[in-house]
Amino acid sequence: MKLYNTLTRKKEDFVPIAKTVTMYSCGPTVYNYAHIGNMRAYIFMDSVRRALRYCGYKIKGVMNITDVGHLLSDGDDGEDKMAKASREQQKSVYEIAEMYTKAFMDDLARLNIGKPEVVAKATEHINDMLSYVVKLVELGYGYETSDGIYFDISRFPTYGKLSGLNLDNQIAGARVDVNDEKRHPADFALWKKAPKEHIMQWESPWGMGYPGWHIECSAMSKKYLGARFDIHTGGVDHIPVHHENEIAQSEALEGHQTVNYWMHGEFMQVDGGKMSKSLGNTYTVTDLENKGYSPMVFRYFCLNTHYRKTLNFTFDGMNAAKTAYTRLLALINEHRNGKNATEPEIKQKYENEFMDAVSDDVNIPMALGVLWNMLREKPSKDIYELTQKFDKVLGLSLDTIPQEEKIEVPSEVAELANKRLEARKNKDWALSDELRNQIATLGYTVIDKKDGYDIKKL
Ligand code: AMP
Ligand code: ZN
Repeated sequence: MKLYNTLTRKKEDFVPIAKTVTMYSCGPTVYNYAHIGNMRAYIFMDSVRRALRYCGYKIKGVMNITDVGHLLSDGDDGEDKMAKASREQQKSVYEIAEMYTKAFMDDLARLNIGKPEVVAKATEHINDMLSYVVKLVELGYGYETSDGIYFDISRFPTYGKLSGLNLDNQIAGARVDVNDEKRHPADFALWKKAPKEHIMQWESPWGMGYPGWHIECSAMSKKYLGARFDIHTGGVDHIPVHHENEIAQSEALEGHQTVNYWMHGEFMQVDGGKMSKSLGNTYTVTDLENKGYSPMVFRYFCLNTHYRKTLNFTFDGMNAAKTAYTRLLALINEHRNGKNATEPEIKQKYENEFMDAVSDDVNIPMALGVLWNMLREKPSKDIYELTQKFDKVLGLSLDTIPQEEKIEVPSEVAELANKRLEARKNKDWALSDELRNQIATLGYTVIDKKDGYDIKKL
């Protein structure tokens, strides 16, 4: 299996550390409903997990749930996201966290995204984070200021290796920093001292406070996966700050590289631009359902673009996905009922092609191409069985029997169709054809069946 590694900027052969692949995925901050861009990130995570399993690996996956408010900006200022939601929605921060965690889990289930083996809430791991920060301070990587404990970036010379940015570039691009106690503008908070009014706070050697965001992932990945693990996933937006900071913390603590493969999912745009609340285009999976697009149609839409490419969300695209997905199910259903047998070599050919796609940096669009090609074979149960095998990677519920969309048939059309059925029983083919034409002029067509007919719109 080959995976693209952001760290080396190359597709590399995947060599796991041990039999069970260890994988960490940055999870959501639960202060709002996840939008479809967020869900693309988790469909990507799910595809990687499914692809690994298809290639024969066992997996131990960990995903965090950020239920401690980290601050609005990636820098260490701005308002706490959880506190803001709590104030605006007049609920406690814990209620906010619970409500949106549940909504997120529901979205995962509806999109056939398998839950990682460990789902870890930040609030249940404060002690792990604290002891991590204490160790970093002991090792001389953390220092105290009046408002928190900061990571001393100058002690970590390879800072920036993931994004390929050097520190000077980052500083040049940084805003004027308000915190003049920091030794370096890019130093980041490991722990913040909490003002009295801060809602979530815990005891620490430095008084009451709360953890920085980045420490959450370093502490939890170490706890569940150890000091070295195979794969770390996240969105591309995490590369320049969050993941650089995670690398700095973890490598400072361990004294060696801790993650072998860094994988990042590209962003989803809407109508060629950014998704944003002010543009009213941050749709949720439920919004799409209300507009008539099932979660599987959205999943199909996402899977058509490789995870390393930007995906532009449009309703035209969703309509095309809906048509294609419906057709896919219909074709698969024909194979389910198929009477032909497929040659073993032909089956093997498709299996090989599918495996080649999946193991080539999780190339799901290519894998879908193999599936479509395969469906052109004569209807056969062998092909149906292969579709179900492929669905272990695709997760598209390909065993669903397609539902015909119910259409309102005007009584005039129904009457003509009944007359036509009668004519056919009497073997009056001329009248039958004449009635078919009349039905067509009304915009409908009749599909004859053994014991009756179906009516469809033309
Ligand atoms: P957050 O809850 O903001 O930390 O985001 C959760 C996940 O969604 C992260 O992995 C982000 O990288 C990802 N994400 C946020 N916006 C988008 C987007 N427009 N397209 C794809 N992924 C996104
Ligand atoms: Zn993270």
